Amino acid sequence: MFTLMPDFRFKTFDEATVEFLAENGIKGVVLDIDNTLEPYEHPLPSEHVKAWLSSLKSAGISAAFVSNNNKERVELFNSELNLPAFYKAGKPFKKNVLRAMNIMGTTTENTLLMGDQVFTDVWAARNAKIRVALVPPINDKRDVLTKFKRLLEKPILRRYEKRKGKTLK
Ligand SMILES: [Mg+2]
Repeated sequence: MFTLMPDFRFKTFDEATVEFLAENGIKGVVLDIDNTLEPYEHPLPSEHVKAWLSSLKSAGISAAFVSNNNKERVELFNSELNLPAFYKAGKPFKKNVLRAMNIMGTTTENTLLMGDQVFTDVWAARNAKIRVALVPPINDKRDVLTKFKRLLEKPILRRYEKRKGKTLK
Protein backbone atom coordinates (compact mmCIF):
# COMPACT_ATOMS: atom_id res chain seq x y z
CA MET A 1 0.00 0.00 0.00
CA PHE A 2 1.28 3.47 -0.84
CA THR A 3 1.82 5.51 2.28
CA LEU A 4 3.54 8.78 3.02
CA MET A 5 4.23 7.65 6.55
CA PRO A 6 7.95 7.85 7.28
CA ASP A 7 9.81 4.76 8.46
CA PHE A 8 11.50 6.73 11.23
CA ARG A 9 10.99 10.05 12.93
CA PHE A 10 13.85 11.87 14.61
CA LYS A 11 13.94 15.09 16.59
CA THR A 12 17.18 16.05 14.84
CA PHE A 13 19.31 14.57 12.04
CA ASP A 14 22.01 13.39 14.46
CA GLU A 15 19.71 10.74 15.92
CA ALA A 16 20.78 8.82 12.81
CA THR A 17 23.90 7.68 14.61
CA VAL A 18 26.38 5.24 13.14
CA GLU A 19 24.96 2.64 15.56
CA PHE A 20 21.38 3.29 14.44
CA LEU A 21 22.35 3.14 10.77
CA ALA A 22 24.36 -0.05 11.21
CA GLU A 23 21.53 -1.71 13.18
CA ASN A 24 19.20 -0.94 10.30
CA GLY A 25 21.58 -2.11 7.62
CA ILE A 26 22.06 1.37 6.13
CA LYS A 27 25.13 1.85 3.93
CA GLY A 28 24.24 5.21 2.44
CA VAL A 29 22.18 8.26 3.35
CA VAL A 30 20.52 10.62 0.89
CA LEU A 31 20.29 13.95 2.66
CA ASP A 32 18.06 16.93 2.27
CA ILE A 33 19.87 20.13 3.30
CA ASP A 34 17.39 22.90 4.08
CA ASN A 35 15.74 22.62 7.47
CA THR A 36 17.05 19.06 7.81
CA LEU A 37 20.75 19.75 8.43
CA GLU A 38 20.70 23.55 8.57
CA PRO A 39 18.08 26.29 8.28
CA TYR A 40 17.84 28.13 4.95
CA GLU A 41 19.75 31.11 6.27
CA HIS A 42 22.88 29.12 7.17
CA PRO A 43 24.99 28.91 4.02
CA LEU A 44 27.53 26.48 5.51
CA PRO A 45 27.27 23.26 7.52
CA SER A 46 27.89 23.64 11.26
CA GLU A 47 30.78 21.88 13.01
CA HIS A 48 28.15 19.52 14.40
CA VAL A 49 26.93 18.57 10.92
CA LYS A 50 30.52 18.11 9.74
CA ALA A 51 31.36 15.93 12.74
CA TRP A 52 28.28 13.78 12.14
CA LEU A 53 29.16 13.37 8.47
CA SER A 54 32.72 12.43 9.31
CA SER A 55 31.48 9.82 11.84
CA LEU A 56 29.48 8.26 9.01
CA LYS A 57 32.47 8.31 6.72
CA SER A 58 34.66 6.61 9.34
CA ALA A 59 32.05 3.88 9.64
CA GLY A 60 32.00 3.34 5.87
CA ILE A 61 28.53 4.86 5.44
CA SER A 62 28.19 7.01 2.32
CA ALA A 63 26.30 10.29 2.15
CA ALA A 64 24.97 12.44 -0.68
CA PHE A 65 22.96 15.64 -0.88
CA VAL A 66 19.75 15.72 -2.87
CA SER A 67 18.27 19.18 -2.56
CA ASN A 68 15.52 21.02 -4.37
CA ASN A 69 17.38 24.26 -3.71
CA ASN A 70 19.56 25.96 -6.33
CA LYS A 71 23.12 25.41 -7.52
CA GLU A 72 24.65 28.24 -5.45
CA ARG A 73 23.11 27.04 -2.21
CA VAL A 74 24.07 23.40 -2.68
CA GLU A 75 27.58 24.02 -4.03
CA LEU A 76 28.49 26.45 -1.26
CA PHE A 77 27.10 24.15 1.42
CA ASN A 78 29.05 21.24 -0.07
CA SER A 79 32.24 23.21 -0.83
CA GLU A 80 34.27 21.78 2.05
CA LEU A 81 32.58 18.41 2.17
CA ASN A 82 32.75 17.43 -1.48
CA LEU A 83 30.00 14.86 -1.26
CA PRO A 84 27.96 13.78 -4.26
CA ALA A 85 25.36 16.54 -4.51
CA PHE A 86 22.32 17.23 -6.65
CA TYR A 87 20.59 20.61 -6.74
CA LYS A 88 17.16 21.45 -8.14
CA ALA A 89 16.63 17.75 -7.60
CA GLY A 90 12.91 17.77 -8.33
CA LYS A 91 11.86 15.77 -5.28
CA PRO A 92 9.31 14.08 -4.97
CA PHE A 93 10.52 12.64 -8.28
CA LYS A 94 13.00 9.85 -7.72
CA LYS A 95 15.47 10.56 -10.53
CA ASN A 96 18.15 12.33 -8.50
CA VAL A 97 17.69 10.06 -5.49
CA LEU A 98 18.49 7.13 -7.76
CA ARG A 99 21.48 8.99 -9.22
CA ALA A 100 22.81 9.62 -5.71
CA MET A 101 22.36 5.93 -4.84
CA ASN A 102 24.15 5.00 -8.03
CA ILE A 103 27.17 7.14 -7.09
CA MET A 104 27.18 5.80 -3.52
CA GLY A 105 26.83 2.26 -4.83
CA THR A 106 23.87 1.54 -2.56
CA THR A 107 20.61 -0.30 -3.13
CA THR A 108 16.95 0.16 -2.23
CA GLU A 109 17.54 -2.09 0.79
CA ASN A 110 20.49 -0.25 2.32
CA THR A 111 19.76 3.43 1.58
CA LEU A 112 18.01 5.86 3.91
CA LEU A 113 16.69 9.24 2.85
CA MET A 114 16.46 11.93 5.51
CA GLY A 115 14.43 15.09 5.13
CA ASP A 116 11.95 17.43 6.76
CA GLN A 117 9.07 17.44 4.28
CA VAL A 118 6.45 14.78 3.80
CA PHE A 119 5.42 15.87 0.30
CA THR A 120 8.93 16.17 -1.09
CA ASP A 121 11.29 14.01 0.98
CA VAL A 122 9.06 11.17 2.18
CA TRP A 123 7.35 10.99 -1.19
CA ALA A 124 10.69 10.94 -3.05
CA ALA A 125 11.82 8.04 -0.88
CA ARG A 126 8.58 6.18 -1.57
CA ASN A 127 9.07 6.72 -5.30
CA ALA A 128 12.64 5.43 -5.06
CA LYS A 129 11.42 2.55 -2.84
CA ILE A 130 13.87 3.32 -0.06
CA ARG A 131 13.37 3.93 3.66
CA VAL A 132 12.98 7.45 4.96
CA ALA A 133 13.53 9.31 8.21
CA LEU A 134 11.61 12.51 8.82
CA VAL A 135 12.87 15.31 11.05
CA PRO A 136 10.86 18.39 12.03
CA PRO A 137 11.93 21.48 10.03
CA ILE A 138 14.72 23.22 11.99
CA ASN A 139 13.38 26.68 11.36
CA ASP A 140 9.95 26.47 9.82
CA LYS A 141 8.66 29.31 7.69
CA ARG A 142 5.46 30.95 8.85
CA ASP A 143 3.96 31.71 5.46
CA VAL A 144 0.50 30.54 4.44
CA LEU A 145 1.68 27.84 2.02
CA THR A 146 3.97 26.25 4.61
CA LYS A 147 1.22 26.33 7.23
CA PHE A 148 -1.12 24.65 4.75
CA LYS A 149 1.45 21.95 3.97
CA ARG A 150 1.96 21.25 7.69
CA LEU A 151 -1.82 20.93 8.06
CA LEU A 152 -1.87 18.30 5.29
CA GLU A 153 1.03 16.43 6.93
CA LYS A 154 -0.73 16.21 10.29
CA PRO A 155 -2.97 13.15 9.70
CA ILE A 156 -0.04 11.25 8.18
CA LEU A 157 2.18 11.97 11.16
CA ARG A 158 -0.61 11.20 13.61
CA ARG A 159 -0.97 7.76 12.05
CA TYR A 160 2.77 7.23 12.33
CA GLU A 161 2.70 8.06 16.03
CA LYS A 162 -0.28 5.79 16.58
CA ARG A 163 1.48 2.91 14.89
CA LYS A 164 4.66 3.47 16.87
CA GLY A 165 2.75 4.02 20.12
CA LYS A 166 4.44 7.34 20.71
CA THR A 167 2.93 10.67 21.61
CA LEU A 168 2.87 13.51 19.13
CA LYS A 169 5.21 16.29 20.07
MG1 LIG B 1 14.08 20.57 3.51
